[in-house]
Amino acid sequence: MKPFTYERVTDPQAAVLAAASAGVPTKFISGGTNLLDLMKLEIEQPAHLVDISRLPLQRIEEIGGELRIGSQARNADVAADDRVRKRYPVLSQALLSGASAQLRNMASTGGNLVQRTRCPYFYDTTTPCNKRLPGAGCAALGGFNRIHAILGASDACIATHPSDMAVALAVLDARIELLGTGGATRSVPILDFYLLPETTPHIENVLRPGELITAVVLPPPLGKRQLYRKVRDRASYEFALVSVAVVMAMADGAVGEVRIAFGGIAHKPWRSLEAEAVLHGRPPTLASFQAAADAALARAIGRGHNDFKIDLAKRTLIATLARAAEVRS
Ligand code: SF4
Repeated sequence: MKPFTYERVTDPQAAVLAAASAGVPTKFISGGTNLLDLMKLEIEQPAHLVDISRLPLQRIEEIGGELRIGSQARNADVAADDRVRKRYPVLSQALLSGASAQLRNMASTGGNLVQRTRCPYFYDTTTPCNKRLPGAGCAALGGFNRIHAILGASDACIATHPSDMAVALAVLDARIELLGTGGATRSVPILDFYLLPETTPHIENVLRPGELITAVVLPPPLGKRQLYRKVRDRASYEFALVSVAVVMAMADGAVGEVRIAFGGIAHKPWRSLEAEAVLHGRPPTLASFQAAADAALARAIGRGHNDFKIDLAKRTLIATLARAAEVRS
């Protein structure tokens, strides 16, 4: 690991000021469940760390019908929160499906959002990787790409985003609150927060240099028909091959407003507006669910080893929609 300096801050303004004034490559650190691994491998090489884990951003508050989750709330605490479990069960399910109990006790809400891909070539510094070293090439394109993306990928990068939580946030229409240098604040819809790889896979989201995630805000929920389903190689402590988050309302025996997102198949949580449009107003039948799945994966491209994900994603969506339709609202 490269040497670095360290400071702990207790005020959000002090955090952004510390990042802006450090004069060397600086990173915020909270739970450190991903960043420390990356530093040990020298994939991340910050010269200075600003510890934000003690910031007063750990509360989960109801404000005007919305739920505001502080960025330093731990994943385990968010999953166990009574308001989250009752009103946003898809978020609780997604969090509990991720990592291990120990990691969920450490990992923060903000850190979960910005964790890096688990593409093995990204972590193997002997192989070319455009995300690690722009312009180097992509070892996964001609390599073993079983876990890689089938939607939204590019010839520069076919990595997937690893977060379960972010997939649930995508169907909850969450907003990300940010604090920038100089005290400027802004709120970014989750669907606009992440970027596709295109020719710059090293730029993964719209965070500006030194900008701090302060909260995730959830608008009032659609209802209780919410489900997160994760398919993986082993039952726990494993990233998704495919995951599906669904939030659905019924109206006069048909599917009303519905939101669908996938994890494990794209560079970002993949909200499928195409599938939602197909399903809206249709009866909740297997034929409707199949039509939605076909629409969702119509533009999917397999890279060889991951071809199976196209059918797996369709089957996972159909099964999740069928279960969501049975949930009592
Ligand atoms: Fe790097 Fe992306 Fe290629 Fe993986 S898929 S090797 S992260 S460029």
